[in-house]
Amino acid sequence: MLFSEIPGLDEVKKTLINSVKSNHVHHAQLFMGTEGSANLAMAIAYATYINCEEKKEDDSCGTCPSCIKFKKLAHPDINFVFPISTTKNIPKDPMSSLFMKEWRTFVLENPYGNLNDWANHIGAENKQLNISVEESRNIIKTLSLKAFEAEYKILFIWQPENLHTSAANALLKILEEPPVKTVFLLVANNLEKILGTIQSRTQKVKIRSFTDDELKKGLVSKFQMEEKKASQLAYMADGNFNEALRLDQEAEEDHHVFFRDWMRICYKKNNWPELIEWSENFQKLGREMQKSLLQYGLNMLRETLVYSYAGDKLVRLQNEDLKFVQGFSKVLNEPKVEAIAEQLNQAHYHIERNANPKITFLDVSLYISGVLKS
Ligand SMILES: [Zn+2]
Repeated sequence: MLFSEIPGLDEVKKTLINSVKSNHVHHAQLFMGTEGSANLAMAIAYATYINCEEKKEDDSCGTCPSCIKFKKLAHPDINFVFPISTTKNIPKDPMSSLFMKEWRTFVLENPYGNLNDWANHIGAENKQLNISVEESRNIIKTLSLKAFEAEYKILFIWQPENLHTSAANALLKILEEPPVKTVFLLVANNLEKILGTIQSRTQKVKIRSFTDDELKKGLVSKFQMEEKKASQLAYMADGNFNEALRLDQEAEEDHHVFFRDWMRICYKKNNWPELIEWSENFQKLGREMQKSLLQYGLNMLRETLVYSYAGDKLVRLQNEDLKFVQGFSKVLNEPKVEAIAEQLNQAHYHIERNANPKITFLDVSLYISGVLKS
């Protein structure tokens, strides 16, 4: 992770970079930021910079052997510790090192996820996750080895709020007498839940929440989101990157349900009264949501075409969306898909130019109805 991959927060990046340049890398630092902030991303970018072999003025080079390994979170001198529990795959003696594959995909997909997301990611919903005392014994063992390649060995502890008490005590001992050339980066959300003794042995790095503008830029660059949509999400999420993604996901799900039910009604006989009712539902969505729903429909149609040619190998959808596309491809051939797509495109165009949503929706519905039943 490079600093440039994190939107904004220039002042924090500058302070961190200066600490490296002036050789003031504190051996234990606590990256504090509320949920959905860049605390984890920043700690990783910082560690990448510390070990980069061709440091640039304001970022790591991104291309030296160390940077390349950091990018994949697969450097032999970085260790991650995070809360875990037993899971289906690891039914006993769980240890962070056994979850590294899952951890890499989790962080690389979205470095702003929270503990709940992580629990879902490893299939440990409804379980209490923590950092066990065995884990801290393991930390001591790992750190007693010399660094393999890097100048500094780095140990990340994500969510130290969930350290088991005896694990916290073991960690304290290492923080008091740290092995040489080892940097501890603790990444936390809630200061009140961290032992005072750990707090006092670490240097705090405060990571403020994103501004709306930073968040918007991040959504556009990391998730290729449309600017307008990103703006809206950023505004609603109030600086919380993860919340913005969650809201986006929620809107997707709403679109799915709306589009699926709409198509079902279009397919029915004597659907006129229902279509009128639905045009009112459509009107209530508001213009941005209307457009984004039509866009969703277009994506579904495109995937339907891909599915009918190549089966599910090339389709990028999952679960409900995939089921829908499979069903849709049975009733639609290519010319029909194209005809409907053309109508949705037109409707999108008209809505954007302030056409009456109810009338536009009804027009499209009647057209689609005709195509589906032909
Ligand atoms: Zn580098």
